[in-house]
Amino acid sequence: MKILLIYPPFLEARVHEDEINSPPLGLYYVGALLKEKGYHVEILNWAHMGNTSETVVRTIKEKRPDVIGFSVLQANRWGAVEIAETAKALDPDVTVVFGGIGATFLWKHFLTHFNVVDFCVLGEGEYPFLKLLRAIEKGKTLKNLKSIKGIAFRTQGHPVKTARSLPIKNLDDLPIPSKHFDYQHVAFTRGCPGNCTFCGSPRFWGRKVRFHSATYFVKQLEYLYKRGTRFFYFSDDTFLINKERVIAICKKIIERNLQISWFAISRVDLVNEEVLYWMRMAGCTQISYGVESGSEKIRNFLNKNIQSQQIKKAFDLTTRYGILARAYFIYGSPGETNGSIQETIDLIHEIKPLGAIFYILAIFPGTTLYDMFLKQSGQTDDIWLQKIEDILYFETDPQLTQEMILSFGKELRSAFHEALPDFANAIELTEEEAFRELNADFLSRLAMTFSHGDYAKIEAIPHKDKTAKHLYRKSLDYAPTDRAYLGLGMIRQREGAFRESITLLDEGLGVFPENDPLKLCKGISHMNLGEFQEARGCFQGMGNSKQAEIYIKECRKMLGTMK
Ligand code: SF4
Repeated sequence: MKILLIYPPFLEARVHEDEINSPPLGLYYVGALLKEKGYHVEILNWAHMGNTSETVVRTIKEKRPDVIGFSVLQANRWGAVEIAETAKALDPDVTVVFGGIGATFLWKHFLTHFNVVDFCVLGEGEYPFLKLLRAIEKGKTLKNLKSIKGIAFRTQGHPVKTARSLPIKNLDDLPIPSKHFDYQHVAFTRGCPGNCTFCGSPRFWGRKVRFHSATYFVKQLEYLYKRGTRFFYFSDDTFLINKERVIAICKKIIERNLQISWFAISRVDLVNEEVLYWMRMAGCTQISYGVESGSEKIRNFLNKNIQSQQIKKAFDLTTRYGILARAYFIYGSPGETNGSIQETIDLIHEIKPLGAIFYILAIFPGTTLYDMFLKQSGQTDDIWLQKIEDILYFETDPQLTQEMILSFGKELRSAFHEALPDFANAIELTEEEAFRELNADFLSRLAMTFSHGDYAKIEAIPHKDKTAKHLYRKSLDYAPTDRAYLGLGMIRQREGAFRESITLLDEGLGVFPENDPLKLCKGISHMNLGEFQEARGCFQGMGNSKQAEIYIKECRKMLGTMK
């Protein structure tokens, strides 16, 4: 039996690309289980595909799947429906299954309004999907289907769902997906004990947290590492829920000598110095925390259940251990006013995040907020028949206007951007000897963001090069890195100070004599000074680099020595 698992395209272009670059990890878990049970499985990431029809037709004709499973979120449901329609038009016998958070909370909606959807898998999808495939093979009798927990389908034209499937007790029973697939988003846990009003995770996974063993988790990383992956997103809702387990993972990563870096997500009330120490040692370079708002009243409405002091402490400690502390904020919540926005800005100044993402409060099925919305507005799930990705809370609240929301967002972002150099200058790092190189790595990476990375592109951030220079210099006080010498050399070059650039790059080459980017940058500075002989010497030292060849030719031309 041939199964295609598809991550369909979204309605709108995304602001934060890394949110959707990769299919949800669940698709890989399902794919791995099916593969190990003998099915022919392919996963297609069509999130970025845009206009799909030509590709869909070609793919369906070429692959001739028996079953297509879609990973459905609210925002990509239309993409899934449209692909399913094309697939069914080509082959009416193909079975279409919707799974994921969208299908779990809107199963009735899909089965009522879209004939192309044959089944929905609800919640944790691995075993219900496997059982569904077996039932399809055996013949889809009602008796067979009803015996499968965690699915929904139509009978006599009406949508029905079966009993809830029990959560998988031992997550390690699942095959390791990275044996079969390549991806960068990994998760150690399922579930979150939180109960935030805007979040569907607790109802989807349950509030009791289940864990993989450290051995399983690190093995998963190892398979990917061996095939060349060096960077990971640990996408657990709250990775730090059990610090002992996290430390065990970190120790294993170090023991296995995996030279990786990774980002994690946590609640602010779960970190302490010990766990941050081990996380940094094992390659963690960023932790994102849901801060949501500076207003306690709004945090309470969102049921976030965290105190300002806890937020402050988490950000201080995280930065101290050379991990970039990033804050998620939500604005446009009930009761949001200029005053509450100012409270958020005050909190930003207090916690000094080195990264921040600002979202407008959105209402998704499967959340308390959505229940409240349906009750208050008298709307039904039919609202999703509109071609919208989400419902923004402010659109449902007469106290909030679009103008206000735009101005809140602008104010928050400006306040963050304007203060960012001050936050960078205020960094205080642990002075533990073991952290000297890690501190240099952290500061020079951050400097690079200001001088040549994401922050370099943001007009609203003042003094970017000045901040970068300060950070590069500070990083060199801890330990030399080629990144710091190169960054400083490039900034001086950009400023037209070519001689100073050469001095800095020479300093770097004294420590890293084989470093090609340093040689290249130095050669370019020489060229800018009209010193083509010296420049050529730099490029010639770069071995067989194509880039060097181009510059060598240019130098020869300038020196009039072309033969
Ligand atoms: S927002 Fe985070 S802490 Fe709150 S329920 Fe969702 S996953 Fe849990």
